[in-house]
Amino acid sequence: MTESPAAVLPGRRANFDSTVRTIAFVTLWLSLLLVTYWWVAGGGVQELAGWATGLTSLGRLTGLLAAALLLAQVILMARVPMLEAAYGQDRLARIHRLTGFTSFNLMLAHVVLITWGYAAGELGKTPAMLWDLTVDYPGMLLAVGGTACLCLSVLTSIKAARRQIRYESWHLLHLYAYLGVGLALPHQLWTGQEFLSSTSRTVFWWTAWGLAAAAILVFRIGAPIWRNARHRLRVTAVVPEADRVVSVYVAGRHLDQLRTEAGQFFSWRFLGRPGWTRANPYSLSAAPDGRHLRITVQEAGDGSAALRGVRPGTRVLVEGPFGRLSARARTERRIALIGAGVGITPLRALAEGLDYAPGDAVLIQRYTEHQLFRNELQALHHQRGLSLLTLPGHRRSPHSWFGPVPGELDDLQALRYWIPDIADRDVYLCGPDAWTQLVKHTLDAAGLPAERLHLETFKW
Ligand SMILES: Cc1cc2nc3c(=O)[nH]c(=O)nc-3n(C[C@H](O)[C@H](O)[C@H](O)COP(=O)(O)OP(=O)(O)OC[C@H]3O[C@@H](n4cnc5c(N)ncnc54)[C@H](O)[C@@H]3O)c2cc1C
Repeated sequence: MTESPAAVLPGRRANFDSTVRTIAFVTLWLSLLLVTYWWVAGGGVQELAGWATGLTSLGRLTGLLAAALLLAQVILMARVPMLEAAYGQDRLARIHRLTGFTSFNLMLAHVVLITWGYAAGELGKTPAMLWDLTVDYPGMLLAVGGTACLCLSVLTSIKAARRQIRYESWHLLHLYAYLGVGLALPHQLWTGQEFLSSTSRTVFWWTAWGLAAAAILVFRIGAPIWRNARHRLRVTAVVPEADRVVSVYVAGRHLDQLRTEAGQFFSWRFLGRPGWTRANPYSLSAAPDGRHLRITVQEAGDGSAALRGVRPGTRVLVEGPFGRLSARARTERRIALIGAGVGITPLRALAEGLDYAPGDAVLIQRYTEHQLFRNELQALHHQRGLSLLTLPGHRRSPHSWFGPVPGELDDLQALRYWIPDIADRDVYLCGPDAWTQLVKHTLDAAGLPAERLHLETFKW
């Protein structure tokens, strides 16, 4: 793997990403302030003096804020490369959850407050008013359909409900949110006075809607079609690595022009087998060399188990690359890679692909029984000077992230003993959610600044 010159200069791309995050943050808050300002300028505050007018006015404000956040939500999840690179999947998913629930609550408040206000502030008349608004006002029937879609999407994302549903069923239901946002548009245009009362407002809303739609069309639909048509990926080999773990090698055309780097992941579909319509995310387990890609997969369910039987020649469709667990996030010369189980895959690729001097990179590998990539990591130790520390066995307690170690050291003392300068490094961390949270806690206690922790979990 040869790194791009920019990747070798730690911090350059990290600074760029930080600027992108600042711009995205400021743009979102300015948009929210702007729509609030328009609400104030339209007499929103004065209307609060009366009970019924006040309800309607607050209903308008909550509707405007909900619409702005829903559009931001769509853009955030449209897989826009610049945003993906700046935030990374874990952070994007957290922001998505926060803006998603906030916009949904605001939307519900909008429906209740507007209807209540139109019913002259009398709660008893609200259901009848809701019916009248739905059947009499243009676009409202569609908006009700849109609200139902958003309800479906949000209710199934509540953690307790989410756990009861298979991932793919949940994902399919979640896509209804796009339909929900799309169906809400007409009523905003036909009945929303805030949208049409001045040219600047009309331009603002059409631009926001246009950007959201374009982001979906270009990055979620167009780019993957183009990339797959261009690279025409096929499986070249499937190699067992350990019990219920295989590596899949993939080759294609012009792979040297596929802009990806060690530590990133793709969503994969292996054609010609049942369930190919479901994409599963897998990280590259070797640094891309311009000729092959390699993933290493542990059986977790039907999709991953089926990879064992995939034959060479099988056509592969990918979406990606995604994630910023890569050279992109790096700011320091020295690094620590900490991984558990199959979470070692992107770290194995990073140990190969990152630029470092002997002794500057240390890898901590945690596993219960089978050590993945044992020989490959040993080779990196000898050839590149990668320091290796393995932590085998069952964890010593549910509150500790590793197995038995000599002495009575707690997790923080042990980490400081193994890597005394841990707080001065970039740390790349990958593994199951609960485990990474324990490590993160220890790293926080060790004084590692948040911006130097680069984290990926294998479940969301
Ligand atoms: C960014 C990322 C990188 C990953 N890299 C690797 C890797 O290199 N090697 C590896 O073995 N595993 C990796 N995983 C985990 C892997 O994606 C899941 O184990 C796999 O998708 C399970 O699919 P399944 O059909 O076999 O099982 P299912 O029965 O469908 O699911 C088993 C478990 O995996 C979760 N899961 C299923 N599909 C997805 C999905 N599309 N996204 C997120 N979670 C899902 C489910 O919630 C469930 O808990 C990664 C996950 C993420 C999020």
